[in-house]
Amino acid sequence: MWSFFNKHGKTIAMIIAVFGGLMLLITAVFLTNDYKTEITKSAAVQANYNTFETRQAVENSLGKYVTKAIANAEVITESVSSETDLKTYLMAIEDHTTEQDENFYVKFVRCIKDGVLLDSSLDPSERTMPNYCTAHPDTAGYAGKMTDSFINQQLVCFYAPVRNSDYADGILLYYTYETLNKLYVNDILSRPQDGSVFRVFCTSDGNVIGGDMTDPDLFNGDTVEVGSLLATLKGVIGDGPKVREVTEALTGGKDTFVSMNIGSTEYVMAFSTSADTMSGLVVVELFPVNELYVNGLQTVYTIVAIIILFGLIALGVSIFLVIHNISIRRRLFNTETKDAVLDCFNRYGFEREVEKIIARNNLNYSSIVELHISHYPYLLEKFGKEEVSSLIRYIRGILPRFLRIEETFGYADEGNFFLLIHATDKDDLIGRLKLIAYAIGRFRNAKVWNLQPKYGVFEIEKQDSVAVPQMIDYAIEANKTVTTLSAEAGSLPIHFYDNELRRVRMLNENMEIRMEYALQSGEFQVFYQPKYNLNTKTIEGAEALVRWYNVDTKVYERPNLFMALFESNGFIIKLDKYVFTKVCEFISYCTAHGKPVYPVSVNISRVTAVQPDFLEFYTREKKKFGIADGMIMIEFTESFAYENYENLEKIVTTLHMSGFKCSIDDFGCGYSSYQILKMLPMDEIKLDRMFMLPGLSYDRDQDIFQSIIELSKKLNMMVTQEGVEEPADVERMRALGCDVIQGYVYARPMPLSDYLTFLTNARDKVL
Ligand code: C2E
Ligand code: CA
Ligand code: CA
Repeated sequence: MWSFFNKHGKTIAMIIAVFGGLMLLITAVFLTNDYKTEITKSAAVQANYNTFETRQAVENSLGKYVTKAIANAEVITESVSSETDLKTYLMAIEDHTTEQDENFYVKFVRCIKDGVLLDSSLDPSERTMPNYCTAHPDTAGYAGKMTDSFINQQLVCFYAPVRNSDYADGILLYYTYETLNKLYVNDILSRPQDGSVFRVFCTSDGNVIGGDMTDPDLFNGDTVEVGSLLATLKGVIGDGPKVREVTEALTGGKDTFVSMNIGSTEYVMAFSTSADTMSGLVVVELFPVNELYVNGLQTVYTIVAIIILFGLIALGVSIFLVIHNISIRRRLFNTETKDAVLDCFNRYGFEREVEKIIARNNLNYSSIVELHISHYPYLLEKFGKEEVSSLIRYIRGILPRFLRIEETFGYADEGNFFLLIHATDKDDLIGRLKLIAYAIGRFRNAKVWNLQPKYGVFEIEKQDSVAVPQMIDYAIEANKTVTTLSAEAGSLPIHFYDNELRRVRMLNENMEIRMEYALQSGEFQVFYQPKYNLNTKTIEGAEALVRWYNVDTKVYERPNLFMALFESNGFIIKLDKYVFTKVCEFISYCTAHGKPVYPVSVNISRVTAVQPDFLEFYTREKKKFGIADGMIMIEFTESFAYENYENLEKIVTTLHMSGFKCSIDDFGCGYSSYQILKMLPMDEIKLDRMFMLPGLSYDRDQDIFQSIIELSKKLNMMVTQEGVEEPADVERMRALGCDVIQGYVYARPMPLSDYLTFLTNARDKVL
């Protein structure tokens, strides 16, 4: 549990932070929405209440004028007893001249008698009777608004029935709109502000009969025409559902509201309809929501803003953490997978990349290729790090040009590149690798350095269950078996990993496990191959050659099986010392038993030769066994001499002082250099068996031979040709001036017991 948190704690914290941040933001949105709806509702209730109050005020105010009409009607009932009385009375109402007079504001008066509208002279009026009067003949009330075409004014009319009179059935008092507006409505409508932007009252069809709809902000300063609430609204918010809602609210006869946005501001339009006195007049008020709920909204906005802020902070922090984490991981991954200097994959990165590519592709003929620069350590030492690095950079630079889609490469170290190549077949692959080799050959120092890229190939399709790191190892292994000979032959130095390689690997592992025990239990034996002196026509001595006796197969295995392995794992040092000791034993045995003593050549591996105790050990052993001077010849290979000739010069000198002879082995197989001959005071030069192989140009060899032999003679060296198999070659060597031959033609390498016998009969064998 704890380990889970330790491992994933960061991730969990991050998820919580992201989740928390999002939740806060969502809450904020919901809260805002919810609260807005709530606020709109509350605002509407508030608005309706305000509007209701306004309506009551209006009703009260208008009621007064209805009452006035009723009062006038009662006067007629009680005091008018003739038509003249009525006329006088009606005229009196119209004739008031000062504001103090009760009926001062009455514009004119009409009465109704037997369904006919009569003017103050009791003549039938040319004006039309308000509908209200025919609809509610017995109810006093507001009778409507009309335009009077005679005086070209808006008129508002109040009606009261006249009861029990023979002269009139009802009375109508007309006021001009301005008057009414001024007297009855305006003072009511301009009651102390309750937060509304405007407050009007209008008929159910939206005709404004009182109030002021002029609002500089709302209507762009236009004065709203009386009687055009709906038209005005359409002009402002467009003809849409809201206008329809308002229309319904006006005709619905109930106290209600419509919320709407005008511009970016939220409003509530509240409606309160008067039932009786006002005869369906509606008080309409428009409230900005936040005007009504100034404090509440502000608080909510503050809270929401804080929540949003926290949400954003949480989100921001988590995003930062995520990015930070990713960048750290990427950086780590980069240093793990990239070669910083070359800016390409290292071996680990290459492995990962190949795994990815293999996983997402259907492979046809794909291969892991190891490109190895031969003699890399040597180049490094000889030409310096700077120069060799520029070669590596050069190769790194050209490789991408030869790679196709989904192919990749990486650099391990020590001049080793890895490639993943998808070719159509083996020939195609070889063709492409040749191109790369050709390009590498164009490096400026390629010729001087004798630059040779070698390829080890592991063909992926052939082995399914092999892990990528293993594939790479196999490619490396394949590369190790590429011979320089194949390179010299002009073909591409390339080797494909196959079962033979696997067998060799298994064999090597097996040998590595057994070698120590084998040495102790005497499985290693020294064979002797006699050498024949062409001048004296007698035995010259022998070369000691090691054999490993295979207890199972009862076969003496030759060094080509294990030498490379022992050189790479260092076991050769022990083995060389062992062989040397055995040779010393043998010579001292011969000396002790009065047998003829012949010189023995002993091979020294390059690994052995560079050991710090090398000289000391060999000198001590020679002394210990009391070996006479000149009886042991130490053989160094030509390639070792070439790479170490300054060192070797000292070694040879020291060996000479201790009574050893020195030989240079395999001369002519590799870096044949006359320099070596001149520099090193060798006692013998051993010409490589290669010169004995058929197929080499006779003339050319002859020339080389001739000059080597001449030079060797001048330098007082004994010339030995090894690997002589044909009697014809014996004659040829003799003719060329060669001193000694070693080969099957004279004798094969043989166990000590056989060699002892051979020595006894040696004088019989003459070539
Ligand atoms: P090398 O020093 O050049 O030895 C000569 C090799 O040529 C021997 O192979 C020998 O058996 C073979 N040979 C001799 N005459 C003929 C011939 O007429 N025809 C053919 N085809 N081959 C001939 P071997 O014994 O298998 O040894 C191989 C190599 O192993 C040696 O080459 C030497 O470099 C190395 N070696 C052998 N013993 C030792 C040792 O004790 N220490 C070290 N460091 N290397 C050894
Ligand atoms: Ca040798
Ligand atoms: Ca040799």
